[in-house]
Amino acid sequence: MKFNTKTIHGGQEHDKAYGAVMPPIYQTSTYAQSTPGGHKGYEYSRTHNPTRHALENAFASIENGKFGLAFGSGLAAIDAVIKLLKPGDEVISTNDLYGGTYRLFTKVFENFGVKFHFIGMQEASKIEQYVNANTKLIWVETPTNPMMNIIDIKACAAIAKKHHLLLAVDNTFATPYLQQPLDLGADIVMHSATKYLGGHSDVVMGALVVKDAALAEKLYFIQNASGAICGPQDSFLVLRGIKTLHVRMQRHCENGKKVAEYLSAHPKIEKVYWPGFESHPNHEVAKSQMKDFGGMISFVTKGNNFEEAIKIVEKLKLFTLAESLGGVESLAGHPASMTHASIPKDEREKTGVVDSLIRLSVGIEDVEDLIADLKQALG
Ligand SMILES: *Cc1c(COP(=O)(O)O)cnc(C)c1O
Repeated sequence: MKFNTKTIHGGQEHDKAYGAVMPPIYQTSTYAQSTPGGHKGYEYSRTHNPTRHALENAFASIENGKFGLAFGSGLAAIDAVIKLLKPGDEVISTNDLYGGTYRLFTKVFENFGVKFHFIGMQEASKIEQYVNANTKLIWVETPTNPMMNIIDIKACAAIAKKHHLLLAVDNTFATPYLQQPLDLGADIVMHSATKYLGGHSDVVMGALVVKDAALAEKLYFIQNASGAICGPQDSFLVLRGIKTLHVRMQRHCENGKKVAEYLSAHPKIEKVYWPGFESHPNHEVAKSQMKDFGGMISFVTKGNNFEEAIKIVEKLKLFTLAESLGGVESLAGHPASMTHASIPKDEREKTGVVDSLIRLSVGIEDVEDLIADLKQALG
């Protein structure tokens, strides 16, 4: 089955009771048993729920995996992955990663004795010098947030294999429409389904997909034992979102390209970060592992003025000033005062998050309206 068919049919079967084409929202915590243990495959909804199950099968299908797991948020999914580890274990992680992931690693799991090394991974060979006998996991996020760096997943997978480490990839920005990490050698794919998979800014959810049955069994155990699951209503919404993922992503990419080109030609703009430009330092890797370049764009204005950047995002009308990304509507963010405000200025500037950096999640509106909005705000 091709990807554009999988988004709609992958892992799905018609409802056994009435033939409902969409899985019903099984809004139930428990299931009747005829005799103790005599149930129809479902006992309690933390462990299993038919609506969530349909969604988990869809996750597995679109990522070319075998097993999907749905969680109450992206961070809950990451939390489950790190719970595979023990005190003393070490993780090598991308350095410019989603702020919440960094917070979970450093403020929660370091307390439990897991050690994290945060490194730049644009040259994957650098990873190897951090591998020791305690290393268990490589954590990769690509494209990175908000600098849009690209990390070579295949090269990371070769290092992980050589040293018997797990490789996990946060695929939130790219989505399986653009990049399929399991096919490139990753062991675990993670998503904040809140973003492109849900696609409509109406739900918070996380996902994991794996191929290996033993690894899946450990993760299902953690999912049930820790209990950070999502509800049936949210499962239904994300399942519905996935059915249009391919058409939405196609338009996000088309609009993203036009907006990136418009911005790069604008006299007020110093630099545009978008992996589709040939001048992007990781463009060749992006081209080889991604089908297209997505709708996430960051840019800085000439003079790098904090107040001017604030004025621009305030003046935007169609682009809503908000955290998050990946919905049908365009959003704008100012990392230095929003997502990255808690990081000291000189620290955040080391990774490129300067005062005038603005991040756009380009939606699927008419691109002429989006460009007109940017034009008046920059004007
Ligand atoms: C939003 C996001 C997360 C966290 O997901 P939540 O659903 O907000 O918990 C993790 N990684 C990336 C890249 C994200 O954008």
